[in-house]
Amino acid sequence: MKVIEHINQAQKTLVSFEILPPLKGKGINALWEHLDPLMDFNPSFINVTYHRSESMFKKKTDGTFEKVEVRKRPGTVGICAAIMNRYKVDAVAHLICGGFSRQETEDALIDLAFLGIDNVLVLRGDAAKNESSFEPEPGGNRYAIDLMRQVINMNNGIYLEEDLKNAVKTNFCIGVAGYPEKHFEAPNMKSDLQFLKAKVDAGAEYITTQMFFDNQKYFEFVKCCRDVGINIPVVPGLKPISSKKQLNVIPRTFHVDIPEDLYNAICKAKNDAEVEQIGMEWMLQQSKELKKAGVPVLHYYTLGKPQIVAQVVKELI
Ligand SMILES: Cc1cc2nc3c(=O)[nH]c(=O)nc-3n(C[C@H](O)[C@H](O)[C@H](O)COP(=O)(O)OP(=O)(O)OC[C@H]3O[C@@H](n4cnc5c(N)ncnc54)[C@H](O)[C@@H]3O)c2cc1C
Repeated sequence: MKVIEHINQAQKTLVSFEILPPLKGKGINALWEHLDPLMDFNPSFINVTYHRSESMFKKKTDGTFEKVEVRKRPGTVGICAAIMNRYKVDAVAHLICGGFSRQETEDALIDLAFLGIDNVLVLRGDAAKNESSFEPEPGGNRYAIDLMRQVINMNNGIYLEEDLKNAVKTNFCIGVAGYPEKHFEAPNMKSDLQFLKAKVDAGAEYITTQMFFDNQKYFEFVKCCRDVGINIPVVPGLKPISSKKQLNVIPRTFHVDIPEDLYNAICKAKNDAEVEQIGMEWMLQQSKELKKAGVPVLHYYTLGKPQIVAQVVKELI
């Protein structure tokens, strides 16, 4: 089923999870250990992130260095298929522009379609670690909206090979990202919302937000979306804080604020076990308020901490 069908048919707030593919070299069992405890909560869908490759310099025997491309977390398409096969739950494959030519993207979309994976979250991806700003691959898509147009073309039977006759139409439901605290590169919220609206006008069916720790930011964002004519569901993304280190890492990586009360409570914690408890209780309060407000889905970034997410969802059900 498509994500938008899950949302449209729901009588109550749904739950969904987001996972990362295991690091290269780890087997699929690492993923099952992560996901098995979460499946008791009947998630409507599970998102699987996509990761671009990174350039690394490897020392050769003659002392010189060679540049190699390494993808640390491969396997998004395979994991989506494995999830659908093991749990009979819909998987949402993330797709990114960065590091992919349009031809490679088309091949990935063909694989997804053959596997019956009809849900994609279409993203630009971040700049490569050695780049100061995002640069598309030669022949790749620059913005999420360009990648979206490629997916929509395939949904209309238009592939890159123009002389392909009677090509099968794919059937992808397209979600896109939104930022309650603004995308960090956008000069202001207004321009960010205009580009978000362009994605919606081009055919995005729902929005999943960047994590936030202050529900007011989500509520204001949804209001701003409605004010500019964005009327599709806005799915809130939630992540638990589980260590003191994250007080700096999260703002630096995801460009979101940690509210003062949460920050103060975590600073007073004696160890990471106490931080986990505080992070869990904070996310539980966020979830309760969002559920009461009637959000379509509570989408949890599980990122290595499934037990905290499990505790929260258990309390909510
Ligand atoms: C829910 C969610 C899931 C994510 N999953 C992944 C993942 O799996 N893998 C991964 O690598 N990253 C992931 N990301 C991170 C995401 O790739 C980055 O935040 C990236 O920097 C922006 O992606 P986007 O799709 O929002 O880009 P876009 O919508 O392309 O926007 C990027 C920036 O360009 C601006 N912009 C948009 N269109 C135009 C235009 N036509 N002209 C000028 N400016 C424009 C926007 O305002 C914004 O500042 C995720 C983010 C979220 C919120």
